[in-house]
Amino acid sequence: MSKYDGFANDAEYHSNSQYKRGCSVGRLLETLNEDDREAVREAMARVELTNAGIAVALKARGVTTVTAGTIGRHRRAACSCGG
Ligand SMILES: [Zn+2]
Repeated sequence: MSKYDGFANDAEYHSNSQYKRGCSVGRLLETLNEDDREAVREAMARVELTNAGIAVALKARGVTTVTAGTIGRHRRAACSCGG
């Protein structure tokens, strides 16, 4: 994967003054019910699942705000969720 994948989305994400309250993954998780949130968390915890694969699976469910890059940062706890 190119490290410039989703670059515009990334820049947009960092341009959003609300981003400090959590990355788009964290904000997505907040909007899900407990079962859905657990399903996404479980998938992200499985090392054999790629960031891109998770992003596509989310997109298939109507989630277009989360990029593979953001998922990667969230999984490494390098995002703005502070986790
Ligand atoms: Zn996050």
